[in-house]
Amino acid sequence: MAASADCFYLEFAVRRCCLQCGFSVTESDRVCPKCDAQLLLQTDGSTTTFDIAHGKQRIHEAIEQLRSAVAQHQRSTTQFLRVVVGGDRIRHAALQELRVMQSHGTIFQFGQDDRNRGALMIVLKRPE
Ligand SMILES: [Zn+2]
Repeated sequence: MAASADCFYLEFAVRRCCLQCGFSVTESDRVCPKCDAQLLLQTDGSTTTFDIAHGKQRIHEAIEQLRSAVAQHQRSTTQFLRVVVGGDRIRHAALQELRVMQSHGTIFQFGQDDRNRGALMIVLKRPE
């Protein structure tokens, strides 16, 4: 992780760095060209929060947002997604969707946010 200080994120290019060696890689790289680390498995342990409940979404729109957020963050180094689901309507549909994602191996785990009943936590990647 010490290497990440040398890593510059350019505004107009989707770039990231290998967390193992700090080498600059592109989003399409699956393996680091320098140290052969599996880039898709790397995570910095960070959490990203997003809200699928307070934009007057219909249930299917909320689930669409959930799917695209998961797909987007799978290519990043985020480890946890915290999803604000609000009341039971979207929460119920989101739980169903997450069960399917977990059975397909798309996400590693999910559960209730301990501190907030209106939010769910998704573990995208298994901690190393
Ligand atoms: Zn590397």
